[in-house]
Amino acid sequence: MAGYDYDLFVIGGGSGGVRAARVAAALGKRVGIAEEYRYGGTCVIRGCVPKKLYVYASQFPEHFADAAGYGWTVPEASFDWQTLVANKDREISRLEAIYVRNVEGAGGETFHSRAMIVDPHVVHLLGEDRTVTADQILIATGGRPAAHPALPGHEHCIFSNEAFDLKELPRAIMIEGGGYIAVEFANIFHGLGVDTTLVYRGKEILSRFDMDLRRMLHETMEKKGIRILCHSVSEWIRKRPDGRLDALVSGGEVLTVDQVMLAIGRIPNTENMGLEGIGLEMTKTGAIAVDQYSRTNIDNIWAIGDVTNRVQLTPVAIHEAMCFIETAFKGNPTAPDHETIATAVFSQPEIGTVGLSEDDAVKRFSDIEIYRATFRPMRHTLSGRDEKMLIKLVVDGASKKVLGAHILGPDAGEMAQLLGIPLKAGLTKGDFDRTMAVHPTAAEELVTMYKPTYRVKDGERVD
Ligand SMILES: Cc1cc2nc3c(=O)[nH]c(=O)nc-3n(C[C@H](O)[C@H](O)[C@H](O)COP(=O)(O)OP(=O)(O)OC[C@H]3O[C@@H](n4cnc5c(N)ncnc54)[C@H](O)[C@@H]3O)c2cc1C
Repeated sequence: MAGYDYDLFVIGGGSGGVRAARVAAALGKRVGIAEEYRYGGTCVIRGCVPKKLYVYASQFPEHFADAAGYGWTVPEASFDWQTLVANKDREISRLEAIYVRNVEGAGGETFHSRAMIVDPHVVHLLGEDRTVTADQILIATGGRPAAHPALPGHEHCIFSNEAFDLKELPRAIMIEGGGYIAVEFANIFHGLGVDTTLVYRGKEILSRFDMDLRRMLHETMEKKGIRILCHSVSEWIRKRPDGRLDALVSGGEVLTVDQVMLAIGRIPNTENMGLEGIGLEMTKTGAIAVDQYSRTNIDNIWAIGDVTNRVQLTPVAIHEAMCFIETAFKGNPTAPDHETIATAVFSQPEIGTVGLSEDDAVKRFSDIEIYRATFRPMRHTLSGRDEKMLIKLVVDGASKKVLGAHILGPDAGEMAQLLGIPLKAGLTKGDFDRTMAVHPTAAEELVTMYKPTYRVKDGERVD
């Protein structure tokens, strides 16, 4: 190992790469890391963090409206997009600096450069025009929004990256896609006062989530004023003489908007990195193929995070980094666990979910019990807001194990984090029932639904 410049060289300074670099350096390894854009990666610079800040910004109009029922008179509010963007920029720059400091503080060396692999032990740093050698190489280059070159006028469209930094808040936007990024941005823009249309080719938004959540969120978003067109795609986008955009959608309607945002998926960053040259194996979707320990087909090269296209979430990239450290540097081979991952959609209302949806559970178990409650959360009583909350548990009728928990409503993401623990531990409905409620909360429904709302036996619903 002494013959190499580094024990570990990491390519990509996002969630996974920075964690691996910092922890390896703290173990006393000689670590280098290259980032071509900004340390912190997608999550910090143009993903989770700015997204959540914009979600908060977009919720204020509802808070102002709800305040009246509680006795407050709120003078007419106004919103300044440029202030939000500038304050967001300040916060992500602060976090970016912390990411760099953490790696360097642990003894790692940071490079601001694009990197490519020229040999299994040699990395070329394009920004510095130099090569370095490493015993182990970790690829953590993440992903980027999928383009849509077949769409006539695609050059007029933006992606989530640009949406954070628009010069002006659009008056009207069309967002194409039905995944969580499309749904979250639709709620953000709508909350900020933008006339918003969501166009999705599938039959219902948020595939892979529980159908009850999907339907109820869809209805609630429409009630708020977000237009949702399912079974629909854009056919072309044209720039008008006044600078606005016309978008033809399935069925022949032309929407006139200021921005069209495409959120139709993400693709792994693997191009122009020398990977074909060294014979690195890829999957059909262009992701880096890895074994259960995140090792590629080349012994000393590993890959983690979105570039492997397993589960594209920040905590997953971080977990994979920690498992990589155990395997590569601590003699303790550890495979990342991708089962029962709690997650949130920061829509309005929010989704928090963990475990199997009802449909998935029915495919795997012959007797399913569904516990389901819909109710008006207490905070909406005095405010008068006509918005329901949904809490649902999916339970295996034979073992009584809780297989899935799904929530739509205020703070659902926070609840999903806590529900991740009992579901991961394999606890049963009996364990939930024995747990004392916290009153008055919305979450108390989780431990007070004593009788199944219905059962599904061999695929048939039994009430
Ligand atoms: C809009 C949006 C919202 C999101 N919201 C959430 C959320 O709420 N919760 C959640 O868990 N996840 C969320 N995600 C997903 C999350 O951001 C990613 O799963 C996570 O960032 C993946 O981490 P990573 O380390 O694999 O890659 P990244 O964080 O993408 O980091 C990869 C880094 O590698 C750099 N790079 C690429 N190629 C090279 C090269 N050749 N040389 C040098 N550097 C290179 C890139 O510039 C980038 O900084 C969101 C993503 C988006 C786009």
